[in-house]
Amino acid sequence: MRFVTFRKDGAAPKPGLVEGDAIRTIATATLREYVELAPHERVAWHTGDDLVPLESVELQAPLIPPRNVFCVGRNYLEHAKEGARAAGRELKLPSVPTFFTKAPTAIAGPGETLELEAHVSGEYDFEAELAVVIGTLCKNVPEAEALDAVFGYTALNDVTARDLQREHVQWFKGKSLDHTAPLGPAIVTPDETGDPQALDILFRLNGVEKQRGNTAQMIFGIARLIAELSKGMTLLPGDVIATGTPEGVGFARTPPEFLADGDVMEVEVQGIGVLRNVVRIR
Ligand code: MG
Repeated sequence: MRFVTFRKDGAAPKPGLVEGDAIRTIATATLREYVELAPHERVAWHTGDDLVPLESVELQAPLIPPRNVFCVGRNYLEHAKEGARAAGRELKLPSVPTFFTKAPTAIAGPGETLELEAHVSGEYDFEAELAVVIGTLCKNVPEAEALDAVFGYTALNDVTARDLQREHVQWFKGKSLDHTAPLGPAIVTPDETGDPQALDILFRLNGVEKQRGNTAQMIFGIARLIAELSKGMTLLPGDVIATGTPEGVGFARTPPEFLADGDVMEVEVQGIGVLRNVVRIR
């Protein structure tokens, strides 16, 4: 199943289920409320009989998580290598995932223009990622059962202000500016994505491919990430975990390439779709 949040004719956003080229409205107020239902209760909320043509709506971020977006740094070997090279550091691979977070106010929708501020950063960069949406309240989840906690998968662009990331040492500030977490276009359930460790991830800037990876290349797979993050810490339905980016990001290129006003970014994750955003830097 493919879940979206959409607006039609300027009305308030609604959650829905994509059926072919139409959307069936879901009766909960938000998609997060739907995810918070027990799995056996969810189908009773698929009540909207009138299908809304997909082409007639404006998609929004599918879901706003209940708190910060969890993220994983350096989860692809080649990206860890390019980062160390660009920073002139020796490559040291972590033995546990490097978790950090992005503020939920950073979330933007598919197709939304990302208004970024030139006085805040001169080094906006992109990171194409697969994001996991948690479906059940859970804690201390064994790795072997971790994928049972997943509601679905979506795409996230972990837009980063590299200068702030460097200056502040702690990554939170450089990762949490408004409009730096575009999410979507849909949340796709695991039965439809198939093996989440076998999905191609691409990033295109103005139509030119900059990143091409596959989730098979993750250092810590999704089950391990959920197991580690949930150790001694409760995960909530609707929590989002961005799982890291493959190589090819702007700051590690020679010469470095940062986002410019008018750039068109596209994150594509196999089975999920294309998350497209235009950048405005003023
Ligand atoms: Mg990232």
